[in-house]
Amino acid sequence: MAAATRPVAGSYDYIIVGGGSAGCVLAYRLSEDPTVQVLLIEAGGADRHPLFHMPAGFAKMTKGIGSWGWSTVPQKHLHNRVLRYTQAKVIGGGSTINAQIYTRGVPADYDEWAQQEGAQGWSFADVLPYFRRAENNERYSNTYHAYGGPLGVSNPVSPLPICEAFFQAGQELGIPFNPDCNGERQEGLCYYQLTQLDARRSSTAVAYLRPIRDRRNLTVALDTQVVRVLLDNDRAVGVEVVEGGGAPRAVRAAREVVVSSGAIGTPKLLMQSGIGPADHLRAVGVDVAHDLPGVGGNLQDHLDLFVIAECTGHHTYDKYNKPHHAAWAGLQYLLFRKGPVASSLFETGGFWYADRAARSPDIQFHLGLGSGIEAGVAKMKYSGVTLNSAYLRPRSRGTVRLQSADPKAAPLIDPNYWADADDKRLALQGLRLAREIMRQPALKRFVMQEVLPGPGKVSDEDLFKYACATAKTDHHPVGTCRIGTPSDRMTVVTPDLRVIGLQGLRIADASVMPRVPSSNTNAPTIMVAEKAADHILGRI
Ligand SMILES: Cc1cc2nc3c(=O)[nH]c(=O)nc-3n(C[C@H](O)[C@H](O)[C@H](O)COP(=O)(O)OP(=O)(O)OC[C@H]3O[C@@H](n4cnc5c(N)ncnc54)[C@H](O)[C@@H]3O)c2cc1C
Repeated sequence: MAAATRPVAGSYDYIIVGGGSAGCVLAYRLSEDPTVQVLLIEAGGADRHPLFHMPAGFAKMTKGIGSWGWSTVPQKHLHNRVLRYTQAKVIGGGSTINAQIYTRGVPADYDEWAQQEGAQGWSFADVLPYFRRAENNERYSNTYHAYGGPLGVSNPVSPLPICEAFFQAGQELGIPFNPDCNGERQEGLCYYQLTQLDARRSSTAVAYLRPIRDRRNLTVALDTQVVRVLLDNDRAVGVEVVEGGGAPRAVRAAREVVVSSGAIGTPKLLMQSGIGPADHLRAVGVDVAHDLPGVGGNLQDHLDLFVIAECTGHHTYDKYNKPHHAAWAGLQYLLFRKGPVASSLFETGGFWYADRAARSPDIQFHLGLGSGIEAGVAKMKYSGVTLNSAYLRPRSRGTVRLQSADPKAAPLIDPNYWADADDKRLALQGLRLAREIMRQPALKRFVMQEVLPGPGKVSDEDLFKYACATAKTDHHPVGTCRIGTPSDRMTVVTPDLRVIGLQGLRIADASVMPRVPSSNTNAPTIMVAEKAADHILGRI
């Protein structure tokens, strides 16, 4: 665990609900003033397990360690498949279990928030200083990047020769190599920078909480679930918590309650508290405290499709699944901080176009240095390699809803993937592009044959069926408590992140993003929290 943990006792100025990517940043910034008492409450436990800190530990995380164990409802447009929907339940949240890819999207993403979604003050020029403030970038110091901030941002330490051949394959198809996909241009294939420092994961728990563990004005309560935000008329005055298996009890906040429980957890908690769409709340037996129709709406996510190929030899990390190779890899990591354990397995990728007329790349690739990372792969003689593709600007919108008034019940998560026909068309185009990259001459030394979708799968219908059977979440839910103008009935928070119609209650996490950025979502969420702190402290 990063910070000292103390029981939830005493009185607080600020209560932060959820110690994830955003919550840990807020705990750090709000407790900078020693006269202010801050309580950070996290439903999950400590990050003691070494797998949380080794970059390759990620591969185990999507299979359940430190997560809530949720799934989607049957996806109507994917042959009613139910998809596993990993969301973090551990200090540091997603930043403790994710693949550590550090990307931000493009300026137009944020300019559109400001110009088209009513998120005034969130244009790229407005948010860039917060990306930079967070960053301790190992390589760059320029308009886009900075060093000296809390969050480690580093280059991969153990790339493999197949990564270089992947870049050459891109160039053979007309996709350039890009040294920094978070810089001047996003187009091209690249080594991602990673939220790591010295070959260890730089979660927000490690980067923001660990250095301040001695601050006496910050209390971190682990294994403690908030079951309700407490309202006194239209003012949030505290929260009701359950510690371990104990009885619920109230904790008061003199100034503000800040909800940072993630794009699924935040609307769930609000609705449990009677804040949300009145008709839905009544239908599940929750007393309506504040009718706010946008809560839990506007759910957006990136859906991943993938190509898997068998290699001509052991060119990726699959062989390290065998115990003697794994033992060597462990030793190599302990002694030299290098090798397979120092790899997040998805540290190579890039951005390109399914639609050549798009305003910026609309497809993101992740090259997976193995095949066992994804489910459903038949055994191969040699190692496998995976190329994921995700369509980046989906128009499908889904919902988060309650199954019942019981806070222990899992939420009903409906990303509504491919409700929009263009999302499906462009995602399948992205899959074809991924396949084309894998077939380029430069990769012939490394790639023997495609295994999935499989050479026989060529028609749109074949690829659609394949996608319905195998597509997975990219773990990028956003939008379920969106920023907007007060006149829009689907707005949940104002641009300074106050919940519409209530006092003393803000939201700061991935749920406030009105549209999903054209990238992974950890760095954008950290940016949201950095900026939220300035709003709360009255600095902007
Ligand atoms: C498996 C996985 C891989 C990913 N890979 C990447 C990647 O490589 N790069 C990238 O940029 N993004 C990645 N992401 C996405 C990124 O990590 C998330 O967008 C980001 O973590 C969201 O941050 P958040 O603060 O909104 O929510 P979270 O980080 O999920 O934090 C919410 C926290 O609130 C807690 N909580 C919820 N409800 C309550 C309650 N009622 N009481 C108390 N606590 C509560 C949760 O336990 C959780 O710890 C990945 C995500 C996952 C899950």
